[in-house]
Amino acid sequence: MLRILVPSAALRCRLLSTLNMLVPCPCCRSLTLDRRADDQICKVCFWHDDGQDGDEAELVWGGPNGSLSLTQARANYKAFGACEKRFLSNVRPSKP
Ligand SMILES: [Zn+2]
Repeated sequence: MLRILVPSAALRCRLLSTLNMLVPCPCCRSLTLDRRADDQICKVCFWHDDGQDGDEAELVWGGPNGSLSLTQARANYKAFGACEKRFLSNVRPSKP
């Protein structure tokens, strides 16, 4: 039986980071971050990447993203283009 090994999202991010390529923001999925969980702010949605992702997206971690969960930030980005309305003037469009 042929088995295809698909690297996990975390491993893909590490591989892309090793190749000096940008990795996707966990909120808007744009390629804006040098590496994950490194307290970088996404230029497309203004999410502060504190490492939250996957199963923990529903949780409110506090810290740099305040009372925002990643799930809410994603919904906000889809609705109006930033993780929070107050950051609309700080974001830029996503590149294709
Ligand atoms: Zn983003």
